Amino acid sequence: MVTDNLNAVRERIAKACEASGRDIKDVRLIAVSKTKPEEMIREAYVAGQREFGENKVQEMCAKAEAMADLNITWHLIGHLQKNKVRKAVAVAAMIHSVDSLELAAEIQKEAARIGKVQDILLEVNVAAEESKFGLTPDEVPEIAKQLEAFPNVRLRGLMTVAPYTENPSENRVYFRQLNKLTVDIQSKKTDNISVDCLSMGMSNDFEEAIEEGATMVRVGSLIFGERQYGLQEGSK
Ligand SMILES: *Cc1c(COP(=O)(O)O)cnc(C)c1O
Repeated sequence: MVTDNLNAVRERIAKACEASGRDIKDVRLIAVSKTKPEEMIREAYVAGQREFGENKVQEMCAKAEAMADLNITWHLIGHLQKNKVRKAVAVAAMIHSVDSLELAAEIQKEAARIGKVQDILLEVNVAAEESKFGLTPDEVPEIAKQLEAFPNVRLRGLMTVAPYTENPSENRVYFRQLNKLTVDIQSKKTDNISVDCLSMGMSNDFEEAIEEGATMVRVGSLIFGERQYGLQEGSK
């Protein structure tokens, strides 16, 4: 099942790239495996998937340990608390959900301790939803600037969790706004590190996100099936 689903998603990504004149190499699929068992992740791996996303530090670390025999790149996509930064930094190739300078400072401390440069994205609540984590678009440029003082934290781009909607076209306006914000930040950077990652688009709206410039789409339920709990993840 996972293999077929994965191939179907890959095909849709290819079509969205074609429709928008984008190179498929510029769009990475992050398979969101939260709540899903090891055997499903292994099946996706056999089908060629290498990048996986988890929203809880504990779960990501447990899975990384259980599948240490695989060459998996782990992405932390869920809200991160300061007291879990040490564990997150030990495992995550990228942390998508940095939403304060204090959290970035903690990441700096823990990354420096183990001699790592941690790739991060700033999470932006573009639609200004009460229930969601993330910076307001207005806060992003100043925080991006201040991150330059952290040698072990490398800002690579922005991430958003768009609203759930019956009509994914409605999210284009948010995707476009995030894209524009990334371009603004890149143009103001004084160092030579590219801020070119745009993590946006989920099962419901990844094609729209790709057409608006996403470089990483985070797709879970379309690959692994619906999750067993009713709460909307990524919410407070
Ligand atoms: C769960 C989750 C996803 C994947 O959601 P699907 O709708 O299952 O594709 C993507 N991003 C974040 C931050 C999530 O928590």
